[in-house]
Amino acid sequence: MSESVQSVRGMNDLLPPDSAKWRFFEQRCQAVFERHGYDEIRTPVLEHTALFARGIGEATDIVEKEMYTFQDRKQRSLTMRPEMTASCVRAYIEHAIGKREPVTRWYYSGPMFRYERMQTGRYRQFYQIGVECFGVAEPTVEAEQVAMLVDLYTGLGVPSLSTRVNSVGGAADRPRYRQALLAYLEPRAAELCADCQRRLATNPLRVLDCKVDTGSPVLAGAPRVLDHLTELSRARFDAACQALTDLGVAFQIEPRLVRGLDYYTGLVFEIQSSAPALGSQSALVGGGRYDELVESMGGPPTPAVGFALGVERGILALPGAADTFSPRPDLFLAAIGEAARRRALVLAHGLRGAGLRVDLEHRAVGVKAQLKRADKLRARASLVLGDDELASGRAKLRDMTSGAEREVALADLAVELASPPPASP
Ligand code: AMP
Repeated sequence: MSESVQSVRGMNDLLPPDSAKWRFFEQRCQAVFERHGYDEIRTPVLEHTALFARGIGEATDIVEKEMYTFQDRKQRSLTMRPEMTASCVRAYIEHAIGKREPVTRWYYSGPMFRYERMQTGRYRQFYQIGVECFGVAEPTVEAEQVAMLVDLYTGLGVPSLSTRVNSVGGAADRPRYRQALLAYLEPRAAELCADCQRRLATNPLRVLDCKVDTGSPVLAGAPRVLDHLTELSRARFDAACQALTDLGVAFQIEPRLVRGLDYYTGLVFEIQSSAPALGSQSALVGGGRYDELVESMGGPPTPAVGFALGVERGILALPGAADTFSPRPDLFLAAIGEAARRRALVLAHGLRGAGLRVDLEHRAVGVKAQLKRADKLRARASLVLGDDELASGRAKLRDMTSGAEREVALADLAVELASPPPASP
């Protein structure tokens, strides 16, 4: 195939029946988030590049090397969003939402774009669903979000979940920690990867997030942010952990968890699954508190907490074959002969109008092939129309699960399909 008609590397088509499994997952997320008071926000895929440089942090992997950035026809630098928090913060400020309501809870769902090294569970166009809560400084809100996620994944049957939390501290904590980290890392700089040696000067906290030397003893021995928090930050972290315990969430404190974005200021968290289908990409979702971002982007001081979950990884970890998520037709109408096919078309139209899900065969194929198709589609019932049925206005309605048949009037089909199937003999 010539290059022009292939999809872009790392960007995938979503085909049935996989799309049914996705829809199920998305609808479940939406239902759970709405139960917790979150309303949907949709923002454009394209934003000014400066939004992400300022929001996510200049010295992060995303901004340094993963963004799809280009000039538009007027030479403005635009970027396809690599994540949604920056866009939500922009919308929150642009529409002065904080003036309208003290607390805002948004959820979103959509494609994100990062030029990353591809593998199972890691793509260049991928989907995230996430929430942002603005206006609540109390650390119970991050615990509420984590408990909501654990319930979501547990309810979906995702196996072997583990929740890790840490605190990265805010403006009041960072300088002290930065100093301690630099004092430890600088004499050991030669043992760090090339990227991290550079990060020592630009953003030393990012060294803890190194993707190259994940098992490095230097990093394992690094000072912990948790030991350098101010009393207030430590108390807030402890209160969030207490709320998690109150909510019955099992979690571990992971001192090296810093997440790949610069805007976090307090509790950060990640939920992983060891489902084998995920391979090495075990992180299902990540998030945390970012109390300084709204103000740093030009808005009023606004505490905030949010997370983003990966849809592809959720689907990989979700048990069940994709085709079992496809909706089943209520009826498959098979027809023998031209006249019966014409009648079937009209019957199907009427039944669909009555709210039923009906499939039929338009092509002149044998009845055996038609019933095979009814089976494949997992139709609940089937009915064969031939000359006799047209003449009498009656036909045998077959329950595809039990095999039981009963004679029905074609005119009553909608009612018959709505009634429960006859008891098996
Ligand atoms: P992040 O926005 O980096 O905090 O990522 C949040 C979640 O999005 C991760 O836990 C993953 O589930 C998912 N995710 C991030 N990057 C990718 C990617 N390139 N491909 C697929 N999923 C991703």
